[in-house]
Amino acid sequence: MSRRLERTRYDVIIAGARCAGASTAMLLARGGLRVLVVDPSRRGSDTLSTHALMRGGVLQLHRWGLLEAVRASGAQAIGKTTFHYGDETVEIPIKERDGVDTLYAPRRTVLDAILVDAAADAGAAVVHGQAVVDLIRDDSGRVRGAQLSGADRRVTRVEADLVIGADGIRSRIARILELEPIRTAGHATASIYGYWKDLGLDGYHWYYETGAAVGSIPTNGGETCVFASMPQARFEGGRADGLEALYHELLGDVSSDLARRVARSEGPGRLRAFAGKRGFLRPAAGPGWALVGDAGYFRDPLTAHGITDALRESEFLSRAVLEGGDAALAAYQASRDERVQGLFEVTDQIASFEWNMEQVKIQHLALAREMNTLVDATRSLGQAVVGAPALQVSRAS
Ligand SMILES: Cc1cc2nc3c(=O)[nH]c(=O)nc-3n(C[C@H](O)[C@H](O)[C@H](O)COP(=O)(O)OP(=O)(O)OC[C@H]3O[C@@H](n4cnc5c(N)ncnc54)[C@H](O)[C@@H]3O)c2cc1C
Repeated sequence: MSRRLERTRYDVIIAGARCAGASTAMLLARGGLRVLVVDPSRRGSDTLSTHALMRGGVLQLHRWGLLEAVRASGAQAIGKTTFHYGDETVEIPIKERDGVDTLYAPRRTVLDAILVDAAADAGAAVVHGQAVVDLIRDDSGRVRGAQLSGADRRVTRVEADLVIGADGIRSRIARILELEPIRTAGHATASIYGYWKDLGLDGYHWYYETGAAVGSIPTNGGETCVFASMPQARFEGGRADGLEALYHELLGDVSSDLARRVARSEGPGRLRAFAGKRGFLRPAAGPGWALVGDAGYFRDPLTAHGITDALRESEFLSRAVLEGGDAALAAYQASRDERVQGLFEVTDQIASFEWNMEQVKIQHLALAREMNTLVDATRSLGQAVVGAPALQVSRAS
């Protein structure tokens, strides 16, 4: 699916071709813009992330006509979510609404590939093996394009009216623009995860105990992702004895049932670990540039909402770009900040691990309210962009 660079000028260049970048590229190309999306990684490669989609994320895939491809990939259908607070269990069935009656947690090797293929089908030039290494700016400082480079270190200049950084937490675009966070979370959790076969569990399971949380996420290939999350300090203190020992210790501490199932199951190839990073909100747009996905807004993974957020914000940003003009992008930033602040705050409270069972239950009710508000925001987008006439992207006024 990767194409070579076909032109030296596009309407929009996007750095990063995963859930934020590929979906933005798809939506802008469907809107009639000439889009180039580049990513140094391979199409369909994995990334450090578990991959539980919430209702808002599945709704986006449904609205964009991509949910069938997720189902066809063999991603297991998730019909309920079960919360375990110590010995208490709360089961929430997934109700049918807006054409979504089950959730999915496709592996990133699957989801990101579906999104880049959809971007290419919509007419975007998708180029893997190239990264944005610098920005081109005019005398006023407005971004006018990007310099790209790959393994051969040859640098190519490509002009564009807008460069979008969808390049993840450590966004190079944000670094080049010297963007400071406008908000930073107070806490960060670490996690360790792996994939197991035949656990015999149905749906998502989230388990909580004082100072730790574990969970199971059914995915492709009959496998279930099992994660263990903890405050960063516990991770730093425990990792010296090995990831595996710490992982199994946490599983045993939080859920003896899940620990038993994992012990009986066929083991993972390897465990993966995330040492944690505090959430942040960076500016979302400026003259000739914008950020989307983790590059602009990252919240702790403990509430499993980053992909859902990226799929929603890619459409809000795309609408602003298609509307055209710097004012539309400024309005996008204001609306993004308002949309995400509730989820950002409640995620930070949960990520603090400074709660008892009653308190975390109340925080989860607040989380559910925020998630419902975000689903309503997604629903308010109405019909998805599927091929509107070409519109003018933001140009210098
Ligand atoms: C341990 C962990 C567990 C998580 N679990 C969940 C979960 O269960 N559910 C959920 O919804 N979210 C989860 N998340 C969050 C989720 O992974 C992120 O929110 C999501 O990946 C953000 O997508 P993105 O497209 O913005 O960035 P990324 O997925 O990080 O992709 C960024 C891309 O940009 C590319 N790139 C980097 N630099 C450049 C450059 N200079 N030029 C071009 N391309 C570049 C990279 O190669 C990469 O492919 C988890 C995160 C972690 C760390």
